[in-house]
This record gives sequence, C-alpha cells and structure tokens, in this order.
Amino acid sequence: MPEGPSIVFLKNKLTRYRSKTVSEASGYGEMDKSRIANIQLMDIDTYGKNLLFVFKDFFIGVHLGLFGSMLINKRKKVNASFALHFSDAEINFYVAKTKFHPGKPKDIFNFKTDILKPEFDPEFITEELKKEKYASQMIGDVLMDQNVFTGVGNIIRVEVLYRAKIHPESIVKEIPEKKLQFLFKAVVAYAEEFLHLMKTDEVKELAWVYGKKICPKDKTQLVIEEMGKVKRKTYVCLKCQKRYT
Ligand SMILES: [Zn+2]
Repeated sequence: MPEGPSIVFLKNKLTRYRSKTVSEASGYGEMDKSRIANIQLMDIDTYGKNLLFVFKDFFIGVHLGLFGSMLINKRKKVNASFALHFSDAEINFYVAKTKFHPGKPKDIFNFKTDILKPEFDPEFITEELKKEKYASQMIGDVLMDQNVFTGVGNIIRVEVLYRAKIHPESIVKEIPEKKLQFLFKAVVAYAEEFLHLMKTDEVKELAWVYGKKICPKDKTQLVIEEMGKVKRKTYVCLKCQKRYT
C-alpha cells in the first residue's frame, strides 16, 4: 500500500500538467465528473495518502487504496476507474477511489498533521495525543491513525518506532515527552528519506528493520508479528525498543 511519500512521488511526476487545461474526465467510478470539462488544472497537491487535483472552486481527491495504480500516457487492458484527459496527454488511475470536494484542500484538510507538509506541527500533535482517545492507545496503533499522523503507512510506522527506540505496544501517555518529540522528528526525517529512496526503488532494501530478520545494531532476532489493533506486520527489537506501559 502506498504511503504518504509514494503519493508525493506520484505528484512530482505530474508537475508538467499543472496549469494545463483538462478537456474531460472519464472512468467507471461513480463520482460526478461533469464539472471537469475544458477547465484549468490549477494545482496538484497531496494530503497524506490522497493525491489532489485542484480546480478553481473544487478539487478531486484520489486514493489508491491497496491495489490502485497510476499511468501517464499509457493504458492497461482494463478500464480506468478515473482518468484526466488533456489535449495531448492523459493520466489514468486504476482501482482508485475518487472524491469530489468543494473549496480548497486547506479548507477541508488539516495540514498540521501531514508528515510531508511544511505545516506539520509537532506541538499540535503533542496536544492531540493528550486527548483520552489517543493517550490510552498503543503508539503503534496511533501512528497509523490518519487523523493524527497523516501519510504514515506500515513501513514508516515500523522504521520510526525502531529509530526512536519505542516498542509499538507502548501506551501513548506513558511515553516520556522527550521520546515523543524525538519520534515526531524521526517521522518527518524518515518520510523525506523514503521519498528520496523511491527514486532508486530502494525503500525496502535500505530499511533498517522492515522486512529484515535481525537487528542491525545488536544482531538479535527481531520479533515479527501482527501487533495492536491495526493488525499490521510489525518488526521489533526487544533489546533496542523499550515498552512504556
Ligand atoms: Zn536491537
């Protein structure tokens, strides 16, 4: 499943279509596409795992989910779920979910939680995590909550918890403040590293623990199992990562 950086990577591939005129939209998706005809594409943006096509008074959010993909000026044999057509180009999405939103992305989405936005605000996140619904949860679950850490996927979750030396089953309110601040920094730094590594397709190869069997630091066996409510495959070094409970 794509994570926030994977979507920024796609956005960067589309830069040349910014400010171009979209002649029409097509695809079998149910979203009403009638307003997308001979209209200027003002901007292409992202919010977490959503790719955003911004027009003057509205924008379209595209979510690739587990099996979605995007092709530029190429088509698969199956029909696209959503496509944007230009006079000399087309962007095709397969098995993607689309949503129509009135207004601008900033009116609807809170950029303070997006791990790849300059607006990402550790102080805001700190306050959010003090709320009971997050404070009593495991950090490994909260990291996957797109309302708090928008753009985090399983690879980022596993890698940053290892870097911050926090066991994923640690309860949020028991984690020392300094540790949490370190974790936020690790999230931002690793999201940028992830984006960089996508260019050479080395994200998995150069991960420290995700997809590995032993801890790179002390060579002990990693615990590999589905943990927490999110039930996602988790890699933990019990020597390096402390459990705060
Ligand atoms: Zn270790």
